[in-house]
Amino acid sequence: MATLEFTRRYAMAHRLLATKSAKCAIPHGHNEFVTVRLEPEHRFQFSDANSVAPFDVVKKRWHQWIDEHVDHALHLGEADPLIGYFRDNEPERLSQIMTFQGDPTTEALAACFWLKLSAFIADDKLPFILREVRIEETPTNTVIINHTNFDPRTCGLRAGAWPWRADMSINDF
Ligand SMILES: [Zn+2]
Repeated sequence: MATLEFTRRYAMAHRLLATKSAKCAIPHGHNEFVTVRLEPEHRFQFSDANSVAPFDVVKKRWHQWIDEHVDHALHLGEADPLIGYFRDNEPERLSQIMTFQGDPTTEALAACFWLKLSAFIADDKLPFILREVRIEETPTNTVIINHTNFDPRTCGLRAGAWPWRADMSINDF
């Protein structure tokens, strides 16, 4: 099997409070692309199928999550008072809020994507290793997470938070 990459586009909004940037503290949005790279556990060998069949499985679940839950989500830090606003006034929209431990930066989003996709792969028992998550935030700004700059075991995200779970969640409400 060969190394595989696939890309999905989504719209999102966020704001960054801890970062102390006035420009980023107002809610604003980006149209982003996420590209993930998966490497098969085994080397390619000719066979009857010559196929990477399980790839379709992981792609389908990942893209379903992106399309139905990540697209058009509002990304907020867990301490953001806007969460209280929605809880009190528009609770029906809480399911469209993606929450973050700390500021909802693109780096944090890439780490959450890594954990979520890893959970899907493990849950489906697919013979792939996640090698890279890349988010193109703007045409001139890309964030890359890989094993040299990210280790799930030491990343500091609390146990049980939504990125660890192999479900469609984007928050812990
Ligand atoms: Zn932004």
